[in-house]
Amino acid sequence: MKKRFDAKVRTEEELYAFQLEGLKWTVNHAYRNSEDYRKKFNEAKVKPEDIRTLDDIRKLPFTTSKDLQAGYPFPLRSVPFEKIIRIHASSGTTGKRKVLCYTRKDVEDWADMFARCYEYAGCTKEDRIQIAVGYGVWTAGWGFQNGCERFGAMSIPLGPGNLDMQCQFLEDFQSTVICCTASMGLLLAEEIEKRGLKGKIALKKMIFGSERSSDSMRARISELSGVEPQQLFDIPGLTELYGPGTGLDCIYHIGIHYWADYYMLELLSPDTLEPVEPGEVGEMVVTTLRKEAAPLIRYRTRDLTRLITEKCPCGSIMPMHDRILGRSDDMFIFRAVNIYPSQIDHILSGIEGVGSEYQVILDRKSDGKDYMLIKAERANDTSPKDDEKVKKLIEREVKKQILVSGDVEIVGYATLPRSERKTKRVFDNRG
Ligand code: ZN
Repeated sequence: MKKRFDAKVRTEEELYAFQLEGLKWTVNHAYRNSEDYRKKFNEAKVKPEDIRTLDDIRKLPFTTSKDLQAGYPFPLRSVPFEKIIRIHASSGTTGKRKVLCYTRKDVEDWADMFARCYEYAGCTKEDRIQIAVGYGVWTAGWGFQNGCERFGAMSIPLGPGNLDMQCQFLEDFQSTVICCTASMGLLLAEEIEKRGLKGKIALKKMIFGSERSSDSMRARISELSGVEPQQLFDIPGLTELYGPGTGLDCIYHIGIHYWADYYMLELLSPDTLEPVEPGEVGEMVVTTLRKEAAPLIRYRTRDLTRLITEKCPCGSIMPMHDRILGRSDDMFIFRAVNIYPSQIDHILSGIEGVGSEYQVILDRKSDGKDYMLIKAERANDTSPKDDEKVKKLIEREVKKQILVSGDVEIVGYATLPRSERKTKRVFDNRG
């Protein structure tokens, strides 16, 4: 069936031609209309006319969060104020808060992209979409909301938290889709189970924004809520790049299709800034192709993922990247090894008897050495008698897969804190 919001391009060749046109437009636009970009281009000795092929993107200078801070409060602005109809900001302290401007076209492009996400998730206009993410200056609520209205389904703009009301709305309005963070999805699934709502609600899909969901977390959410595992979706999103809705893992869950007709994605080694081999983990560096108010040129997102090169059975020509595997900022160094929380997560997900929540605690002891303690929750309905066995198994896998030694402590189910927003998992007490 033809998708209403899919790209106008039909083949990969058409996509590349479209991208090249967008890249040229963006570089020209930024060079002419933003003093900051012009200065960066001049320093890198590159002119808009130097961009003749897609590979020429590598001639362009990088943009980082430092540029956003330096340009606060209207960084990278490339249009006159009269064309700006909205701003969004990320959470965070003043110094770190990222603020981006949007023109009317930017807002509309974003809604179209997001509508495409609902479409790829298999939603229809009959769906009732309960939006349980934050509404305010940040992008989440507006993104899900405008995308839903553009798509044409019924939106139920409830906002986050308030589990009582979430459950009541699921029952009264028979919402079929809920959009929330994965952490909140877990809380809600536990609540659905606790209240015995499974047969009384019509929930069929969950779409998770702003935080990646681990395999074990998804399995748990599915088991508790009755939503089939293939109906759980991840929507990645960055305030700098419009907000959530710039891609989605389709029903086959091979990877996240990203909307390559709106932005280009490079995967680079955070150390050398050279492209990684296809399939290897790298930092996502994005370049927008149509964004007017605050275009991004080789913007270093700090998010880590890898490209997925296999074809998706859904037939989409939109390329895929893996789920976000962590942030290069979240990486910690323990005994000279670079470790991403996602590696711990991945190990725990593969071990039976372990729940979805964990913490990593790093300490420096009086002997001057660093120690790592991994606290992992016992799975629900699992007896503590296997704790010692599970502990040993995790320690062995950590040693085998990450090449470091750590202590493991198994703690009771639901004893580690859960939050409705992103859950903090790494505690570095090494000073
Ligand atoms: Zn697909």
